[in-house]
Amino acid sequence: MQTANKKPLLRISNLKQYFPLKKKGLYVKANDGITLDIYEGETLGLVGESGCGKSTFGRTLLQLYRQTDGRTMYYGRTLDDVAPQYMGDTFKNLDKLKKNLETYEKDRDAIRKEYESMKDGPEKYAKANELAAAEKKANDAFLDMANLVGGFMTLEDLTPVREMFGDLYQRARKLHTAEVKLADLQLELDDAEFALGKAAEAGKNTGSLQSKVDKLTAAVQADQTAIEGFRAELQEARARIDREAEKYADNAAFQQAQQYRDNGIDLARLKYDEIRLLRSDLQMIFQDPYSSLNPRMTVGQIISEGMIAHKMFRKNDDRLQQEIIRVMDDAGLASYFIHRFPHQFSGGQRQRIGIARSLAVRPKFVVCDEAVSALDVSIQSQIINLLQDLKEQQNLTYLFITHDLSVVKYISDRIGVMYLGTIVELAESEELFNSPRHPYTEALMNAIPTTDIENNRKIEILEGDIPSPVNPPKGCKFHTRCRYCTEICEHMDPPLVECSPNHFVACHHMLAEKGTEQA
Ligand code: SF4
Repeated sequence: MQTANKKPLLRISNLKQYFPLKKKGLYVKANDGITLDIYEGETLGLVGESGCGKSTFGRTLLQLYRQTDGRTMYYGRTLDDVAPQYMGDTFKNLDKLKKNLETYEKDRDAIRKEYESMKDGPEKYAKANELAAAEKKANDAFLDMANLVGGFMTLEDLTPVREMFGDLYQRARKLHTAEVKLADLQLELDDAEFALGKAAEAGKNTGSLQSKVDKLTAAVQADQTAIEGFRAELQEARARIDREAEKYADNAAFQQAQQYRDNGIDLARLKYDEIRLLRSDLQMIFQDPYSSLNPRMTVGQIISEGMIAHKMFRKNDDRLQQEIIRVMDDAGLASYFIHRFPHQFSGGQRQRIGIARSLAVRPKFVVCDEAVSALDVSIQSQIINLLQDLKEQQNLTYLFITHDLSVVKYISDRIGVMYLGTIVELAESEELFNSPRHPYTEALMNAIPTTDIENNRKIEILEGDIPSPVNPPKGCKFHTRCRYCTEICEHMDPPLVECSPNHFVACHHMLAEKGTEQA
């Protein structure tokens, strides 16, 4: 899959996940500034040694752990669908946020001036790190506003801007509340109609049930009409903002900030209840299919649990049973398994149940966390093929986490290589295997067992253990194990840069493209 024309489904910048330790002030820095895009419909593989933070990253993306810092923009739905509280808060506090931004920009400029006047050496390297932190702070403050109000943040008087966007927010909230109410009413109506049908079949008196159905039908219709009205109002509020923006076509600062206006949702800024609304979009398939399935629940109950929780069906709805069987069929499970318990299945079948459970709620993005690692090799390929088929049929996007390079090569469109909580290399799958540019990727590749007797290639084992994420090495985190390390590596963290189209590497001395001299 070519990434050039792909739409991002998730855009992650500077994601950090720190877990506090008992001892005050100490943290496990499991993810330490991850930046990457995940495109709609792709499989992004994520590899690295155990303990490098891959699984934490997957869980943090889904906000199963609240991230410590950074931005996780999700484009599977729009801001209007959720109307999160942070949107309203930003509009309300525009003046304060703008003042903060100005302070951060001043600090950043002062540090940059100092940095530029310094001579090369350890002090300058330390200043570079300080500058990077100041740049990040200013950039975050800029994006917090620019994502939502675009070029309007540059205007002198923010009062009319606050009013205009405040109005937009109120309308989006009204629409969102009405949509949630409609989903509840619809389920109630389904229930009532079901009960009415049963009573009629049994020849019972249906008078009170009929009037309940009539009342609910009227309520559903009224809510639908209200929703149409709210949608039109919201559209008008957006159109008003667009018309206003047109007035600043010649204002360069406005136009520059306007490019950042964005209708994605920052998952990191959502409240718990708001994330719950998106849970069905963002699912996970776990490594150990046995421990992730409740042993006291039947397959049918396991698969239906999410669908009921996300109000797709009522518990007693006849259609729920049909849907469970359809999902089981998709996952290659015979319908007569529906009343069986997890212990009655083999490992491969249990993983199929796990897959069925995750896909039952019709997600858009699925994190497969070592999803085939616990399975026999022959079963692995069956499950991988199943995942591939389901991806095609349902237009899914996967983050495929594994420590197994041969698996990741087979399934992924692109691959990210992770070391001690950061991405050190990211490229299309073939490109990464043909021409690894980061010393760590090279070391991982050299450690793959081979049957290539002709070329007499030796397996090279990467020496040393992965350092502690509580106290990671300064500068490049890989420098304690890297055979190309020089002084700069010990002091300065290399940024992730695009060394060739769609190929990103974080290394001061990245390896040469295959067939050329070292850079
Ligand atoms: Fe090795 Fe230096 Fe590159 Fe880090 S920055 S991987 S230590 S060469």
